[in-house]
Amino acid sequence: ATAQGVLEVEGLSASYGPVKALDGVTLRAEQGRITAVLGANGAGKTTLLRTISGLVRPTAGRVLLNGEDVTRSPVEAMVTKGMSHVPEGRGVIAELTVDENLRVGSLFRGKVGQDEFDRVYDLFPRIKERRTSTAHTLSGGERQMLVIGRALLARPKLLLLDEPSLGLAPRIVAQIFALLRRLVDTEGLSVLLVEQNARSALSVADTGVVLNLGRVVVTDDAHRLAGDEDLRHAYLGF
Ligand code: ATP
Repeated sequence: ATAQGVLEVEGLSASYGPVKALDGVTLRAEQGRITAVLGANGAGKTTLLRTISGLVRPTAGRVLLNGEDVTRSPVEAMVTKGMSHVPEGRGVIAELTVDENLRVGSLFRGKVGQDEFDRVYDLFPRIKERRTSTAHTLSGGERQMLVIGRALLARPKLLLLDEPSLGLAPRIVAQIFALLRRLVDTEGLSVLLVEQNARSALSVADTGVVLNLGRVVVTDDAHRLAGDEDLRHAYLGF
């Protein structure tokens, strides 16, 4: 199959001072697919997303979005071009309500109409129920849904997700991943999903990319990766 690469990363390298966090990473995220980036703590997963989205400057390599070279474009330009990054940590403004958090989030995403808010509430009924609650009262899962919903307001073509499962109960992780799958299958959204929870990520992803010490070890069909016991033991922790 020659699905179109919405995102193409070519030979991307990035360093923090003397620490080389990414070393020549090449991968692609295809239209209407979930691509999981897996690997242990410190493998470079977060740095990869931050470099793709323009928060970290690469020392080498290119990032192409729908064929356009966007390497070193500022974050705001990436949003306009259809990329939305959900960083790890579920950052919301604790004192504001769910609805206010969505509205504040929308300010950075160009013109967002009421129908976009309605759509996000339809996607996350639980968030709709909690829309007048203060964000600090949300559970971890609700917070994660809120930050994903916020990222979806501007109808991105490509969603970069950093460790959405972290610290959540398996049942909640399954709910969030099922929703991602639905968005990908019904709306053609493309997702680059960074996860340390390789078992769950591979169960929802189409393709997996395993990173170790800033390099790609292997890229393969998600089912095949999940079935590779040696690889699982060496890099995936399950
Ligand atoms: P985690 O799941 O813990 O976030 P990761 O796979 O996302 O791990 P990165 O956070 O990208 O890995 O880290 C890659 C390497 O870069 C590690 O060696 C890490 O110690 C280093 N590193 C990450 N952020 C910084 C920073 N701000 N300053 C210096 N070194 C950093």
